[in-house]
Amino acid sequence: MSVKINVSEIFASNVFDDATMKQRLPKKIYAEFKNTLLEGKDLEPHVAEIIAHEMKEWAIEKGATHYTHWFQPLTNITAEKHDAFINPQKDGSILLSFSGKELIKGEPDGSSFPSGGIRATCEARGYTAWDCTSPAFIHEAPDSTPVLYIPTIFCSYTGEALDKKTPLLRSMEALSTQAMRIIKLFGDTTATKVVTSVGPEQEYFLVDKDTYDKRKDLIFTGRTLFGAPAPKGQELDDHYFGTIKERVLAYMTELNEELWKLGITAKTQHNEVAPAQHELAPIYDTTNIATDHNQLIMEIMKKVALRHNLVCLLHEKPFAGINGSGKHNNWSMSTDTGKNLLEPGDTPHSNKQFLLVLASILKAVDDYAPLLRMSAATPGNDHRLGANEAPPAIISVFLGDQLEDVLSQLCEKGEATRSLEGSQLETGVSTVPRFSKDATDRNRTSPFAFTGNKFEFRMVGSSASIADPNIVLNTIVAETLCQAADIHEKADDFELALHDLIKDWVTDHIRIIFNGDGYSDAWVEEAARRGLPNIKNTVDATSVLADPEVIKLFEKHGVFSAIELAAREEVGYENYSKAINIEARTMIDMVKKEIIPAVMEYTTTVAKSVAAVKAVGADASVQEKVLKEITTELSKLDAAVVKLEAATDASVKIEDPKAQAIAYRDDVFAQFAEVREPADKLETLLDEKAWPFPTYAELLFNV
Ligand code: ADP
Ligand code: MG
Repeated sequence: MSVKINVSEIFASNVFDDATMKQRLPKKIYAEFKNTLLEGKDLEPHVAEIIAHEMKEWAIEKGATHYTHWFQPLTNITAEKHDAFINPQKDGSILLSFSGKELIKGEPDGSSFPSGGIRATCEARGYTAWDCTSPAFIHEAPDSTPVLYIPTIFCSYTGEALDKKTPLLRSMEALSTQAMRIIKLFGDTTATKVVTSVGPEQEYFLVDKDTYDKRKDLIFTGRTLFGAPAPKGQELDDHYFGTIKERVLAYMTELNEELWKLGITAKTQHNEVAPAQHELAPIYDTTNIATDHNQLIMEIMKKVALRHNLVCLLHEKPFAGINGSGKHNNWSMSTDTGKNLLEPGDTPHSNKQFLLVLASILKAVDDYAPLLRMSAATPGNDHRLGANEAPPAIISVFLGDQLEDVLSQLCEKGEATRSLEGSQLETGVSTVPRFSKDATDRNRTSPFAFTGNKFEFRMVGSSASIADPNIVLNTIVAETLCQAADIHEKADDFELALHDLIKDWVTDHIRIIFNGDGYSDAWVEEAARRGLPNIKNTVDATSVLADPEVIKLFEKHGVFSAIELAAREEVGYENYSKAINIEARTMIDMVKKEIIPAVMEYTTTVAKSVAAVKAVGADASVQEKVLKEITTELSKLDAAVVKLEAATDASVKIEDPKAQAIAYRDDVFAQFAEVREPADKLETLLDEKAWPFPTYAELLFNV
């Protein structure tokens, strides 16, 4: 039986969105609220009071008993603390209430969230404050009452941001301020702000829950720490865009329904490159809302999977040897009147505003490449970047033939006078309608690719919050737009200044443009020649946060204070150390408690067989050979795990966060391969039934 969903009826039915507010709030209050949003002013208490009341009434109609402030601490996941609407009365009865104050401000004891030293545990006070630009919503779950969720920022008693949403909102404002200066120079008098939009494509794996439950590494670390390759991987290219299995489609159907109810525009779904890998892409939205939605997408993906006896893996590299998962961050900026600043038009060479914005982006990406690289750095993503499945760890920009041609005209002749046009597509089939193709092909190996009217930042990891990359993108582009505006606002001859600046910036930053194969070794060498940084791991990437230029940048635009940056640097190292520590401990545990015992048991069987075969005078050379191979690998494994344990015990004691992260990288993580190699070899030597946990073949091919 197929499933019927009335999409237009359910879409956003669980969101206290603009339409719901317009319908439920008194006209005057609604108008005041909209004004607050437009002008970015403080919400008046009486307005908050009425909104809170209506929000509660609406939530209760939907069955809600609780509300929660919902925020995004420095962990890549979200946090919530539910409170019931109940309010006991003197006569013993219960009133259900929700005040304006409760809507606007919360006070969770935030001491257990990572703060990077901003607060000592004894100074626990943290505040959450309503982000009224992102609508409240109702979260439903089977066998429980729905909960009203209120998106909030999270900050300390002294006002420092302890979350990802606060700096994201600040960066959006910074970009708007600077971009407005630019569009005013070009005569736009109607726009009042510039908004950045993001469309994040989310990759994920689905594995069977029963199989998953037998793997401690998946349970504790999200990735496999052991596993010999399955006989079949992704080499046949038969999974990408392949027919979706019914069990997976049933999952996707329920996932879409849940997301649509929350007003999330889940649009595209398909199988990805690796077996058991899939993708979901929503339609792009304002960065802040897209970020909230992406967090929800990740959470709901995991919850819905469990209902299908599946587990959704969001780790960047769940399996060695096959593709991992990322999140393409499609980014653009538009005026509130709907003009996309990244729209080149048919003749980009004559679109001076576009060329200035483009030159500013090239300069931003080149000047702050290490910072952009940092924004995609997670321990999981270290496995992907530069491993010929995701972009290299080197930041470069792909522009495509048309724009590259325009820019080279500018550099060489000082003037761009023509734009290449897209030609008709010749299929050689007369019954297929003819259409004109884009002026530019695509390049999937580039970390930062122009794709028609947006940039696609392809480095982001699948489990990461998209807040970090967008904070960085917004801020670095705000900075170069600011520099451009500073020059042009003072220029006597605008046209001349514009011409010179575009030409100079393009010439100065041409090294960041690369249209070739980003996976090739030749590019690594070429990039080194061009002086482009190649930052290979999270620990190195994180240290950019201490760079005085970076601190100056963020302080100038009011996105981060020096204290907030220092905190994020520390949290970056801590998160890295903790992740590697958990992986190391899991590895040690699996080797000692599962692999070694299983191998010992198996060797006893083989040894007995050698003795028995010999006793009857038959040839036991095969048994002896197998036994020898196994025991050789077993001793290698034992030696490696002893080394790993010592390195982990030493690293855990280091107090300085950076020194500790370096030790985890160089002494602990570096030791993983030595443990894994003999273990994976043993997997291939033992009887299938003797191996203590499911293999890659079982994990990847049994959904
Ligand atoms: P691909 O072909 O690269 O897999 P898709 O077409 O599936 O990409 O989607 C790319 C994402 O880019 C979608 O989320 C889409 O809504 C988003 N997108 C499209 N236009 C813009 C834009 N102007 N700004 C930001 N994101 C956009
Ligand atoms: Mg894409």
